[in-house]
Amino acid sequence: MPNKVRAFLGLGSNIGDSRNWLRQAVEELPGVIAVSPLYRTEPVGGPDQDDYLNIVVAIETELSSRDLLLQCQRIELEAGRERLVKNGPRTLDIDILLYDNRQISEPGLEVPHPRMFQRNFVISPLLDIAPELAFDEAFTSRINPDELIGDVEEIGEL
Ligand code: ADP
Ligand code: MG
Repeated sequence: MPNKVRAFLGLGSNIGDSRNWLRQAVEELPGVIAVSPLYRTEPVGGPDQDDYLNIVVAIETELSSRDLLLQCQRIELEAGRERLVKNGPRTLDIDILLYDNRQISEPGLEVPHPRMFQRNFVISPLLDIAPELAFDEAFTSRINPDELIGDVEEIGEL
């Protein structure tokens, strides 16, 4: 029996009933142990587009990182996700932020997620549910507060 691993996922949506896409994803994700508050956030990069709703979810899972990515992509597809424009609007995005303490660099899978450390819409909800990361040197050393971008506003519970 493989050991359970704790992973953190970043979810975002800015098309359709975003709150509902996020709720459905939380229902479908395996082993959810914590869900962050809901944030309304400014789009970062990409074309002119609506604000996002973002959350971060903690899970405990026996899935490999690759199988977890496949599960996330299956849930994105069920939400009608289309990849039309880089950083473009989407019904649902699910990114693997952290998987245990592991560094993964494979085709199509980079963990920790390489862009998360510059993004307020990831770091704020992540620290809400994992405040201990603020004392983890491997984590904090990758954050430069001056480089954190994107205005975020906490708007309550999902
Ligand atoms: P983005 O999330 O960067 O806006 P996509 O959701 O379309 O864009 O993802 C693009 C690709 O990123 C996916 O095909 C996936 O293979 C790859 N990818 C690399 N690392 C990760 C990760 N940690 N979590 C999710 N996807 C990742
Ligand atoms: Mg993604």
